[in-house]
Amino acid sequence: MTAFRTLDQADVQGKRVLVRVDLNVPMENGKVTDATRIERVLPTIREIADKGGKVILLAHFGRPKGRDPKESLKPVAEAVSLHLKKNVAFADDCIGEVAEKAVAALKGGDVLLLENTRFHAGEEKNDPAFVSALAKLGDLYVNDAFSAAHRAHASTEGLARVLPAYAGRTMQQELDALTKGLEAPKRPVVAIVGGAKVSTKIDLLENLVTKVDALVIGGGMANTFVHATGLNVGKSLAEKDLAATALRIIEKARTSNCAIILPVDGVCAYEFKAGAVNHTYGIDAIPEDQMILDVGSQSVERINAAINDAATLVWNGPLGAFEIPPFDQGTVAAARHAAQRTKEGKLVSVAGGGDTVAALNHAGVAENFTYVSTAGGAFLEWMEGKALPGVEALRA
Ligand code: AMP
Repeated sequence: MTAFRTLDQADVQGKRVLVRVDLNVPMENGKVTDATRIERVLPTIREIADKGGKVILLAHFGRPKGRDPKESLKPVAEAVSLHLKKNVAFADDCIGEVAEKAVAALKGGDVLLLENTRFHAGEEKNDPAFVSALAKLGDLYVNDAFSAAHRAHASTEGLARVLPAYAGRTMQQELDALTKGLEAPKRPVVAIVGGAKVSTKIDLLENLVTKVDALVIGGGMANTFVHATGLNVGKSLAEKDLAATALRIIEKARTSNCAIILPVDGVCAYEFKAGAVNHTYGIDAIPEDQMILDVGSQSVERINAAINDAATLVWNGPLGAFEIPPFDQGTVAAARHAAQRTKEGKLVSVAGGGDTVAALNHAGVAENFTYVSTAGGAFLEWMEGKALPGVEALRA
């Protein structure tokens, strides 16, 4: 059971339902080039429309400073209509007379997209006057945009405070997965954190060591830890000035009974280039003139053993420079192993944030994970243990 109000508790029939969605889709020459985000919000739109609700979609697009035709949602309305296989009306503004007229014209089951909420400064300021102007347009509020939930904006947080508020189906799915991942997980829990730098993930590492039973550190950031423990990392990417931070995290893990699993070997090359000549060395024998670009096979064995011991896995960040083969092999091998354990029903696997989705897609296993979040910033803030304003406002 989720601790959030969902569409199960909402009576939408004949009601004006303001639905916050993420339609910040990639566009080229006025055409949507990847419709993943559109696909994700269709179930909520369909359900409300099928139940006779008037669906009024709210979304931001890009980072406009005031009204800017280049950041209009109008072409996105056409794309939503195409995927929904149903007419989607569009209003040139998200508040005021234009929006009010468009809403008044709706019948039960109709769908309307309002213009970019960020055309008004009140959106990002969560300005009460702007919140009221939006709230006038609806009887209920549904938030289906987890990826924007780390922002306390008018359409992501303010509205939930003034209208009866519910999680949409995609938001609900994300919250259920995240609860299974870290808030109420089946233990033992292992986390894998990779990626380029420690500096962007200090809060995340500090939070995880207090919550998980084992933390695997890979990617460029592992080099900083390896250096901090007194070993030589050659020409590898490493933030040597963060050695003290790395040691503090190791110490915090020790007092929290969290095992830290660092690479025991590394695939090294002279240059950061696809197909570069490479050799695997023990982590205490990294040559002075080479860089570690992936975890080695012995490290993968240890990581896979940690996955075998776990009932739950949370994963953010690749274990190596996965974009340039053959330095994708560590990430691919561990991802495939986690996917296999998940398929066998032995593991709940939750992954997300930035390059992680690309890495799992590259390994061909994103479909086999229990849940892969495409939410980027919001997913990372959740992994950091931060309260997400848009989510908090939906708590039952
Ligand atoms: P992040 O956005 O922090 O998750 O970092 C992802 C990036 O880290 C990817 O572009 C990887 O190529 C890079 N990366 C992972 N491991 C290494 C490594 N050992 N050396 C250099 N870059 C790496």
